[in-house]
Amino acid sequence: KLSVQGVAKYYDGLPVLERVNLDVEKGAFCTIVGASGCGKSTFLRMLLSQERPTRGEIFLDGIALPEEPTPDRGIVFQKYSVFPHLSVAENLILARELEEAPLTGKLFGSSRRSAFSDIGDLLEQIGLSGAANKYPAQLSGGMQQRLAIAQSLVKRPSILLLDEPFGALDPGIRLDMHELLLGLWKDLDMTIFMVTHDIHEAFKLGTRLLVFDKIRHDPQAPEAFGATITYDLPLSAPEFGAE
Ligand code: ATP
Ligand code: MG
Repeated sequence: KLSVQGVAKYYDGLPVLERVNLDVEKGAFCTIVGASGCGKSTFLRMLLSQERPTRGEIFLDGIALPEEPTPDRGIVFQKYSVFPHLSVAENLILARELEEAPLTGKLFGSSRRSAFSDIGDLLEQIGLSGAANKYPAQLSGGMQQRLAIAQSLVKRPSILLLDEPFGALDPGIRLDMHELLLGLWKDLDMTIFMVTHDIHEAFKLGTRLLVFDKIRHDPQAPEAFGATITYDLPLSAPEFGAE
């Protein structure tokens, strides 16, 4: 269980998030909506330990989140980042070895061949089997986003964070990605937090909807800002494959 307790985040003395309290059961699919600039990405970065809350604490199964990102929490952005001179499979091997590099101290080490077999499973799962030896520039937008998701899954995270992952994709391809994501969520038993600007997508995919409210600053009374509110709407589990 993930427990967000009284979390606030300030930048340069100004609040971006205030009084965020939230309990999320394992395996939930939380979709996050809210106006631009209200702190959604900041919230994901705190879940990843890329940022520390200014106040409050986030607990995972009763233990405060580690101070540094760990492989059990993966993240996917709208803008993917891959190495253009490496193939799809090589990018995934590198993504995994980068996680292990602090331990092994080398990349593309002797395990390269054995690495390929489970990377093969991952490619299969993500629908990229046929593209293992292609280069990123040869992939369609949807395929590139599949690769971005695969990169975040190389360490089999138990928590997957997605920051507007499908914002740049055509509507038809978004539907394919919804199917893919729901399948992965079920198969890999992950807790998912996904930021989206598409309210329809938020209702379709989520089992819970978090609505972040933008803090309003009152120049006459700077201390009297409105708290960021998170609503929980218990949604029915998404109908798998329904569209
Ligand atoms: P969008 O929907 O546009 O992606 P968001 O809800 O993800 O917006 P954030 O990116 O979390 O919003 O930013 C929230 C606020 O915090 C913004 O006003 C932003 O300028 C500010 N902010 C974010 N990161 C930093 C930082 N590292 N330093 C200072 N201010 C920051
Ligand atoms: Mg954002």
